[in-house]
Amino acid sequence: MSAKTLKGETLLIATHNKGKLEEFRQIFGPRGVEVTSAGERGLGEPAETENTFIGNARIKAKAAMEASGLVTIADDSGLCVDALDGGPGVYTADWAGPSRDWTMAMRTVEEKLQAKGATTPEARRATFNCTLVVLWPDGSERIFVGQAPGYLTWPPRGQLGHGYDPMFVPDGGNGKTFAELTADQKNAISHRARALDLLMKELL
Ligand code: IMP
Repeated sequence: MSAKTLKGETLLIATHNKGKLEEFRQIFGPRGVEVTSAGERGLGEPAETENTFIGNARIKAKAAMEASGLVTIADDSGLCVDALDGGPGVYTADWAGPSRDWTMAMRTVEEKLQAKGATTPEARRATFNCTLVVLWPDGSERIFVGQAPGYLTWPPRGQLGHGYDPMFVPDGGNGKTFAELTADQKNAISHRARALDLLMKELL
C-alpha cells in the first residue's frame, strides 16, 4: 500500500466542540490542509459505546467519514488514575454528570482516592491519554496515542484549562497543575499535543 499523507486533503474533524476544531485548524491550516468538522457540517453525534479510547475514537471517525466521504480524524481522551484501576478512563466526561460539573467530578476522584488511603504523590499517579484515529474513505486507518503522566493533588489549583486540569500535576511542569500553566506551556507537554506531534511526523 502506498504511504498515506494528509497533504492536499480536506480533513474532517469528528467533533462538535469548537475549541477542539480551532486547535486542529491552527495546526493543519498553515500546512496547507483544509479543515472542517462534523459540527460545521451538521453531522450527527454517535453514541460512544466502546470501553476503550481507540474503540470510541473509531466509532466517531467511522460515522463522520461515512457521512462526509472525507478523510476524518477523531480523538478520544481521558484521565486514567492508577489507584482507581485506570478510572475514570473512557468515562472521564461522564463523571462530571449531564451538566458537566467538573468540581463534582474532581471531588468524586478525590473521595475515591481517600477511600483507598492514597495520600502521597506516588500513590496518586495518573495519566492523561489522547487517542487519535485517522480514517480514509478507502478504509485505511492510522492510530496515534499521546500520554501526559503526573499525579493528582488536592485541593485543586489554578484557573486556566478545563476539566480535571486543576488537580493534575504533570511531570515536567515544575510542580504546577495543568490549570496553572499557560496554553503554550500545557501544549508543550500535553497528551493531545504529543499525539498530534506523532501524527504530524508521519502524515505531514
Ligand atoms: P472526549 O475525548 O471529548 O470524549 O472528552 C474526554 C474528557 O476528558 C473531556 O471531557 C475532559 O473532561 C477530559 N480531558 C481530556 N483532556 C483533558 C485535559 O487536557 N484536561 C482536563 N481534562 C481533559
